[in-house]
Amino acid sequence: MEGEIPLSKNLNELDQKHFIHPTSSIQQQQEHGPAYIFEKGDGIYLTDNKGETYIDAMSSLWNVNLGHGRSELAEVAKEQMEKLAFSSAFSTFSHKPAILLAEKIASIAPKGLNAVFFTSGGSESNDTAFKLARHYWKLKGKPERRKIISRKKAYHGVAAASTSATGIPQFWDMAGTFMPDFVHAETPYEKGTTEAIESVRQVIEQEGPETITAFIAEPVQGAGGVIIPPDDYFQEVRKLCDEYGILFIADEIITGFGRTGKMFGMEHWNVQPDLMTFAKGVTSGYIPFGGVVVSDEIHDMMKERSTGTLFHGFTYSGHPTASAVALKNIDILENENLAANSQKMGKRLLQGFERIKKDTNMVGDVRTLGLLGAVELVKDPSTNERFPAEWKVAGKVINALYDRGVICRPVTFDSTDIICFSPPLIINEEQIDTMVEKVYDAVLAVEKEIGLKRSP
Ligand code: PMP
Repeated sequence: MEGEIPLSKNLNELDQKHFIHPTSSIQQQQEHGPAYIFEKGDGIYLTDNKGETYIDAMSSLWNVNLGHGRSELAEVAKEQMEKLAFSSAFSTFSHKPAILLAEKIASIAPKGLNAVFFTSGGSESNDTAFKLARHYWKLKGKPERRKIISRKKAYHGVAAASTSATGIPQFWDMAGTFMPDFVHAETPYEKGTTEAIESVRQVIEQEGPETITAFIAEPVQGAGGVIIPPDDYFQEVRKLCDEYGILFIADEIITGFGRTGKMFGMEHWNVQPDLMTFAKGVTSGYIPFGGVVVSDEIHDMMKERSTGTLFHGFTYSGHPTASAVALKNIDILENENLAANSQKMGKRLLQGFERIKKDTNMVGDVRTLGLLGAVELVKDPSTNERFPAEWKVAGKVINALYDRGVICRPVTFDSTDIICFSPPLIINEEQIDTMVEKVYDAVLAVEKEIGLKRSP
């Protein structure tokens, strides 16, 4: 084909010269070029341009919930593109795919959340949620309610406001983009539930409840290390929010659309948010998309008092093609009972992890909620003593997994060595077992490499 680049070497050079990769080491890229150039996806597998096939145990970026290569989604996109690829949803313009998708999302969202603002991804969704929450308070005559409480280890994205809500300081430092009016409470990781909840109360009291717009949390913290909260945690935080009149935003960007074994993560604890953000799994990554669902109270306030233009809108808010793909994606999730499969496979994955913990010498906590899971590597499982950061143990295990054909992701903030798992929701028992065997083998290999012996 004319213009085709025949050699992977050329692609490496072009990549180094012209492609600034997101969340990446620029120097490593300049030294080595990209390690993997993927060409094809099929089910839970990705194949690179050298013909090697890998299990995509992260659903790429926690998002390819339906797995790769679903032609139904491609067909819907083609049909919609040929009919009406794009038209505006600003002002008085509308179109059928976005209208039908808004109705569908309202029907599956928590009770009382029935109106949707669409975006192109997660960061835009969280920035939008903060602005809508402030807008609500402004309409209610309390414009001084501006502060957002999030938590340490939270990841809410990299737009201006979502960077500030993110509780991993490395993301603020990159460009000094920490905005005023963002505060972070403790999270229930290595802190008891009581301590974590008390920390939210303390932050509210310190800042002054009358200055606070909203509290935001991921049901399970993803990029912070797959941190699953204790069962009563979110109900207690919801009570606190009610006590102080603070809006509760659920960031369901990873946890939405079946990931944790329910359609949305907060359903595990019957906690009702006032706003809910989503992205990723809404289209399984086949096309960029996201949004915010708001409560009837917020929507009613807007209907009643937002008299002028709502000065907030992305070109692609409600993109017709993306909306059509999202509708089909949700249809498939429901028809194939993928939330239920996620719950079932997540339990099997946990059993596998527990076996690895029992039979090796460097696995501490293992956990899953649906198909969101983590294996923590520690120097001494009896005390949870961590490895020295310079041993780079998580990195070694990740590399051993690549060698065995599994793509996972490490979390090493705060000197942790956490291996995260988030495979496509279509995964079956045999594939789970294969993945677990490979993880076991990789852990054993690294254990041998670093010469770790079980303490007597
Ligand atoms: N919130 C959470 C919980 C996320 O995991 C992410 C992405 N990893 C985002 C927000 C940001 O989404 P995006 O990268 O689509 O902007």
